[in-house]
Amino acid sequence: MPTRPCWVEIHTQALEDNFRFLTTLASPDVDLLAVVKADSYGHSLALCAPAVVRAGAQWLGVTSVEEGVAARALCPQVRILVIGGVFPGQGAAVVAHRLTVVAWETWQLEELETAARMAGLAPGALPIHLEIDTGMSRQGASLQGLDPLLARLSPAAPLRVEAVLTHLFAADEADARVTCEQFAQLDEVLMRLSTAGLFAEWLNVGNSAALLAGQAPAVAELAARHGMKPLMRPGLALYGLAPEFEPPFREEPATLAAARANLKPVLRWKSRVVGVRTVPAGAVVGYNGTFVATEPMRLALLATGYADGLDRRLGNRFSVLLHGQRAPLVGRISMDQAVIDVTEIPGVNPGDEVVLLGGQGSDAITAFDHAAATGTIPWEVFTRIGSRVPRIAI
Ligand SMILES: *Cc1c(COP(=O)(O)O)cnc(C)c1O
Repeated sequence: MPTRPCWVEIHTQALEDNFRFLTTLASPDVDLLAVVKADSYGHSLALCAPAVVRAGAQWLGVTSVEEGVAARALCPQVRILVIGGVFPGQGAAVVAHRLTVVAWETWQLEELETAARMAGLAPGALPIHLEIDTGMSRQGASLQGLDPLLARLSPAAPLRVEAVLTHLFAADEADARVTCEQFAQLDEVLMRLSTAGLFAEWLNVGNSAALLAGQAPAVAELAARHGMKPLMRPGLALYGLAPEFEPPFREEPATLAAARANLKPVLRWKSRVVGVRTVPAGAVVGYNGTFVATEPMRLALLATGYADGLDRRLGNRFSVLLHGQRAPLVGRISMDQAVIDVTEIPGVNPGDEVVLLGGQGSDAITAFDHAAATGTIPWEVFTRIGSRVPRIAI
């Protein structure tokens, strides 16, 4: 059945190209884990996970065991890392679907260990990625809290620390001071681990900002110092967006300049004109009449509202693309509909295509534009596009 005209187009070839490009930024030293959590940042796991695997990804990153189970059904061969950890009762699914969990709490190790024993796994057969908190105070074990964890990770245990992981929480700050401090802390933790007789194969560190800022050699160097292989975890960049750096670089690193030149947007969000009407001066538009026509105007109705993810705060303060021109959103955005002013755009008819996010003609609206208008970040813009909006591969 044809759908209501509010949809997202996913350019899977652009995603593949982005993964390959990021591989060149990271190589020869660093491997990449493709972050496909939160339904691939709203781009559709079903379309994106197989695409990055086609492009050569050996590792996928998801939020939860639930997302991991879905990713496993799509990609039987690759490694799948559950970044947000395991929850009580989920250990059996981790084992059954060959997921790898990020862990940092004793109870998580217990949950996994019990599941591994129940499944009769051999010592060391269930890999985990041990997260260290190097300053973000979010997830991860502190340096002081390591001992009880290490006590559970004897060679006889079914669990094996395959990787040590930390999250760089200020990699988008151009001066990199915070990141250097995190590397120093990690170095200390890795020495502690080797003193305790624990050797992990991988060092799993760094998001898109870290990769684009040119931190891959630093991650590789730290890994090499401890006899480990480096792994970085880009998300946003895969979907074609380079993070903005704050404060900006005085001199942009070559890696970031190359990313700006090479990354391709993957997602385009579209709708269509439902109908067009002419209103006289003084007509009010939408709930509470927050927009009043100052002259006779032509208005077009769109089949998209805030339940589709079009942020209600965009009403009266954002434009969309129609016939390659900007058409302002007027009045409040409704749950399922919005109205645009097409007075300056001739020849608008029902069925005409409207771009809410992405390019049309020579103009483009980015997730950064949406984010700036609503006081958020592109990650949230992407993940807020409603689940009822179909994602279509092109
Ligand atoms: C989401 C996430 C990433 C990817 O971040 P981007 O900024 O989108 O590249 C990497 N690591 C962890 C732990 C994450 O949660």
